[in-house]
Amino acid sequence: MKFVKVLAAVAFAVALTASLAVAADKKAEHPPGKVAGCCAKAAKDGKTCDHPCCVEAAKNKKNCEKCKGTNEEKK
Ligand SMILES: [Zn+2]
Ligand SMILES: [Zn+2]
Repeated sequence: MKFVKVLAAVAFAVALTASLAVAADKKAEHPPGKVAGCCAKAAKDGKTCDHPCCVEAAKNKKNCEKCKGTNEEKK
């Protein structure tokens, strides 16, 4: 019976680690700040904004500052 308990504990730890990793990934995908208006509009239509400045910003996982997006968390 002891073995089952250890197995359960390990399974729980693995599940916890996995969920934490997923949460961290989600955070990285959405940078703090505001998405530029043009990009938000494109995202609404299921597309990505095709402005060269926005494409470049997206590559760096940032919002386009040229189009009034911000990359700082609102306080
Ligand atoms: Zn844009
Ligand atoms: Zn832009």
